[in-house]
Amino acid sequence: MSETFVLKSRRCTLEKAEKLISDAYFTDVNLRGRLYPDKHPVTAIYHCAVDDRIPYQEAITKEFTKTEIGKTFGPTWSTHWFRIEFSIPEDWVDKEVRLAWNSNSEALVWLDGSPFHGLNKDNHKHVDVSSQQAGLKQTVFIEMACNTMFGAGSGLIGPPNPDMTFALNQVELVTFDRVVFELIHDIETLVDMATHIPETDQRSFQSLYTMNSIVNACTVGDRESYKLAGQIARKFFSETPGSSSHTVHAMGHAHIDSAWLWPYAETIRKCARSWSTTLQLMDRFPDFKFVCSQAQQYDWVKLHYPCMFERIQKNSAKKEQFIPVGGVWVEMDGNLPSGESFVRQFLYGQRFFLREFKSKCNVFWLPDTFGYSAQLPQIIREAGIKYFVTQKLSWSLVNKFPHSTFWWEGIDGSRCLTHFPPANDYGTSAKVKDVLKTVTENKDKGRVNHSMLLFGYGDGGGGPSEEMLTRLERMKNVDGLPRVKQSTPQAFFESVERDGTANLCTWIGELYLELHQGTFTTQAKIKKYNRKMEFLLRNVELAQSILLARSGQRGRYPRSQLQRLWQGLLLNQFHDVLPGSCIKQVVDDAIGIYEDIDKTASELLDQGLNALVQPAEQRGQYCIFNPNSWWQHQVIALPEVHEDDITPKQAKIQKHEAVTKDHSGRTLVLVAVPPMSLSSSADTMMSDVKPVCIESCEGAFKLENEHLVALIDNLGRVVSLKHKETDREAFKTNTQGSVYGNQFVIFDDIPLFWDAWDVMDYHLETRKPITKMRSQASILDSSQLRCSIETKLSISDSSWIDQVISLDSGSPYLRFTTEVHWNENHKFLKVEFPLNVRSTNATYEIQFGHLQRPTHFNTSWDSARYEVVGHKWADLSEHGFGVALLNDSKYGHSCHDNIMRLSLLRSPKSPDPTADMGKHHFTYAIMPHKGSFQESHVIQHAYNLNNSLVVFPGTLMSQADSYFTVDNPAVVIDTIKLAEDHEDVLVMRLFEAYGGQATTRIHSSLPVQRAIRCNILEEATSDNCLNGNVVQWKDGFIEITLTPFQIVSLLLYLR
Ligand SMILES: [Zn+2]
Repeated sequence: MSETFVLKSRRCTLEKAEKLISDAYFTDVNLRGRLYPDKHPVTAIYHCAVDDRIPYQEAITKEFTKTEIGKTFGPTWSTHWFRIEFSIPEDWVDKEVRLAWNSNSEALVWLDGSPFHGLNKDNHKHVDVSSQQAGLKQTVFIEMACNTMFGAGSGLIGPPNPDMTFALNQVELVTFDRVVFELIHDIETLVDMATHIPETDQRSFQSLYTMNSIVNACTVGDRESYKLAGQIARKFFSETPGSSSHTVHAMGHAHIDSAWLWPYAETIRKCARSWSTTLQLMDRFPDFKFVCSQAQQYDWVKLHYPCMFERIQKNSAKKEQFIPVGGVWVEMDGNLPSGESFVRQFLYGQRFFLREFKSKCNVFWLPDTFGYSAQLPQIIREAGIKYFVTQKLSWSLVNKFPHSTFWWEGIDGSRCLTHFPPANDYGTSAKVKDVLKTVTENKDKGRVNHSMLLFGYGDGGGGPSEEMLTRLERMKNVDGLPRVKQSTPQAFFESVERDGTANLCTWIGELYLELHQGTFTTQAKIKKYNRKMEFLLRNVELAQSILLARSGQRGRYPRSQLQRLWQGLLLNQFHDVLPGSCIKQVVDDAIGIYEDIDKTASELLDQGLNALVQPAEQRGQYCIFNPNSWWQHQVIALPEVHEDDITPKQAKIQKHEAVTKDHSGRTLVLVAVPPMSLSSSADTMMSDVKPVCIESCEGAFKLENEHLVALIDNLGRVVSLKHKETDREAFKTNTQGSVYGNQFVIFDDIPLFWDAWDVMDYHLETRKPITKMRSQASILDSSQLRCSIETKLSISDSSWIDQVISLDSGSPYLRFTTEVHWNENHKFLKVEFPLNVRSTNATYEIQFGHLQRPTHFNTSWDSARYEVVGHKWADLSEHGFGVALLNDSKYGHSCHDNIMRLSLLRSPKSPDPTADMGKHHFTYAIMPHKGSFQESHVIQHAYNLNNSLVVFPGTLMSQADSYFTVDNPAVVIDTIKLAEDHEDVLVMRLFEAYGGQATTRIHSSLPVQRAIRCNILEEATSDNCLNGNVVQWKDGFIEITLTPFQIVSLLLYLR
């Protein structure tokens, strides 16, 4: 016997075993080469090229022509159907026979009209075929997609090559030797245990010796020797771990991005390919559990592959193997969607799972997005979910997140039991190293004795494989490894709870990913549309709800249209679309969805508002809709009024001292419009106008209104901004480094790898102020209601900025209406403001609230947050004074020391080489204020900048009351909509926005009869209480108390 040689060289012994099972070396004489011992050609291959991704029923009616192995098919994204005919040879009856296919692309096998199994070039290359009857003609159809699992780009994230072709390399029948397959996995597991269990553990050597004995016992081709080898393996694998060992909960998964390096339409087929394979595996491996998220993907499968969807439903109901998780419509971005968008992700997601799977999800599942909002814990809990799973923070570049299992606490104090699978991957191969890493990387050793392990190829890799499940069988209960069981998220969290959660640590606030911070800015058009459509849909729901309540005509609310529009918006919030990390084809698809939302929702808003007023009798009669829950005092522009159209009422307007024209001839008026109301423009005009004025002297302009005095130079830089009430200068300018208010700055923006995703910290070392003008600044508006100047700057030979800087009568902020023509390569455009404020923390708006982040780089955790997310405003305040920066479509911010920056445009080239090229419009505003941002109504002004008054032709008989009001400014009414399950119940969603306890009285002029508290899924709470008090609508109002940042949803029953 040669066993003593194992002592001489551990490495040689290991490699000797590896060679026996290698698929690259010595396959003519090793065990792997015997896995598919016999081959037989198929009878015939027929081919048909089709124009699009067509259904099976349509494809099979097309004309197919004969083809052969070796032919190539393309181009990229095209589809080719194949009809394969074959029969089983006499001596193969009852053997395991498989059809082997390799087209270097993704493909789907159809059997008897149903998706049967996915294929791809790396993992899933064989499908089982029946071998019961020799000679019988069998037929399968194969739908070949001309793309790989990562689309068709080079180097993973390169733009897709449109001219790829794919060769048909293998189509044949093979026999499968299961005994060899099992033995290969015995040896593989032992090699891995010997390799990855530390040498300080004798089990590592026991694995090595056992492995060596098996290799020596095994003679390739001698089936008797396989038996002996198998017996040695079984003895080893029957030795069990100690009773205190860690339990690994293994779950199959296929992370399928809803769009990324391929379009939405391909994702639908990726789901069919991966999920059909998974269903096949479930029949063979009864312990196998597969967790699967994203209601949208289920909905696609239901529509396009109804019989497969039924199989999933049946499996899920009976065997509980196919397990829906997440509770959301798509795995959305975790930073950029609004609070209400987060709510709708859960509302439409959970309702779908309840409808189709008879139960809601109990785990929020978001393994792969680029940071997690500190408001998510409350929204997750409000959606009836206690648990959260992710792992993305393991990608952080600087700091290691300190926990694996912990309480995550949001800005309101809500907590979710949260788990990061310690293998730091949502798509492991379930190998020994993954199982061991799950134990060694568990950061809560001693606190928790359970962890999750996710396995399966994502994104079209086909999900879990037979190999993975075979490995897990060996690792189930073997000494040297933790106990490994096929489990579910629910079972995992219940195990953690059973062991006790009192010792778990708590992480308060956002889960900030120290990577991918460029995604707050990339693809500015998508981000702008997202913000605009969030507000447009909100306004449609408000107007249509008012109409329904006022008219008493139930059933006219455009429920199904709104649901469709919302689901389009939610789809585009997927974590590679809204962040801007997708290919151009996806951007084009997303813009198409937004354009549809914009058009349809605008029509619905017009229709709703017009039905609430009388038609205009004359041209020039306008109504004004204030969609916000506070008064709006604003200068607004009416469309131009023709002299001969002037009615007596219009004459009153024209003569009004507060009427002027803007530079494009539109009539400007200063109005004051009550909260959530409709008014006529004439009734809301303010008479006590405090005029704004402008003067120019020596290349500078002075703009002044009752609140501010701004001194602006020829480059549009604000040299001075005086806040009159506090007599404070807002900026600390420094001519040396070109440090001014509204100074555009450009940075080199070359990341390490993830182009569209990443802006690295070192970009900050390349700041270059933009100081070149294309022409002199000039005065554009000079009226008592609005003064403005226009500036024209040059960024480079191919990029420029046109900006209108304006100050309105009564406005607390200076507004910058900006147009950029952007044609750059790896440059980052920002605008900066050197604030005359000292504070160690800046405040940023997030969903239904705000949070603070440091303005210093004290620790590595602080300095890693050099680029952060914020929504409509950011603020830097010291006691008594502060400055806020408002915006209408941006999300990337930073504030270091006193320099506050807003990130405007990037220019990455992968995966979309055209990202952000072309023309952009956006607006921001700078608002110095007295006291805190709460006291000075920064939040309300930021809403107004985004969601201003809606002016439309029409007349009102009399000034209408506010439809809804709150009497505490800390409480914001965010949403009014029709309840999903009722025809005469409205949902009102409000939140505490200031970060303190707030009591408010809510009035409504609508016929509200009673109010019931509900969660965000619109399910009534059992006690109808809010913070211990019964919710009660009486005499047209309700009085409630909200805790800091609390989100409250109410069902308002109409009379
Ligand atoms: Zn992903």
